[in-house]
Amino acid sequence: MPKRAARVLLGLVMTITFALGGAVLTAGPAQADGCYTWTRTLAPGATGNDVTQLQIRVAGWPGYDSVLAVDGSYGPATTAAVKRFQAAYGLAADGVAGPATQAKIYALQDNDCTPIHFTYPELNTCNSTWAGGAVAAGTAKANALSSMWKLEALRHALGDKSIRVTSGFRSTSCNAAVGGATNSRHLYGDAVDLGVSPHSLCTLAKQARYHGFRGILGPGYAGHGDHVHVNQGPNRFWSASQCGI
Ligand code: ZN
Repeated sequence: MPKRAARVLLGLVMTITFALGGAVLTAGPAQADGCYTWTRTLAPGATGNDVTQLQIRVAGWPGYDSVLAVDGSYGPATTAAVKRFQAAYGLAADGVAGPATQAKIYALQDNDCTPIHFTYPELNTCNSTWAGGAVAAGTAKANALSSMWKLEALRHALGDKSIRVTSGFRSTSCNAAVGGATNSRHLYGDAVDLGVSPHSLCTLAKQARYHGFRGILGPGYAGHGDHVHVNQGPNRFWSASQCGI
């Protein structure tokens, strides 16, 4: 081999090695993230707040008509949710939240821990404090964050097209002003109303059944002909008869 070709080849090999090394470093657990940084690989059997943080972010992948418990304990349901998350994003679906899975989550979240396609202001057009609902402001805001991660999963499952939020958290007065039910989950911060575009309401309602929402109301249910309501209330209640739900 001519010397020049050998040098070019060597340079190429070094470039590739450097690129691979860089990729490994980028995906490593030591990466700082503006929202939250894991310091270990999480696997079945793990417990702790870092597991809780993981569960919040994969709770949108519990499977059909299922809700993932956010309890800080990495059991079979968490393993299954992690596998679905991994498969959905093209990662090896081993059910272990290692560097690659954590890196994907970092890429999906903003510095305030909301998923990249949803924001706190979007989930709260009522006030900026999250106060005045049925629960403490911090609880309402945490409930909204939980719902946003489920919406991010719903959005991804439907091909990463935008989803339009028309209502989220409401204080008692905001809820009364729009004629909401007096026991509405909007008062708790976990309810979200979704409008048409680009998906039909029935597409949204049907797909929501796979992403951890206990409440789904849509076309065919009184007052829900122009939006789909999803929530995380304590009671499982789905009704959207025009969508076959
Ligand atoms: Zn609603």
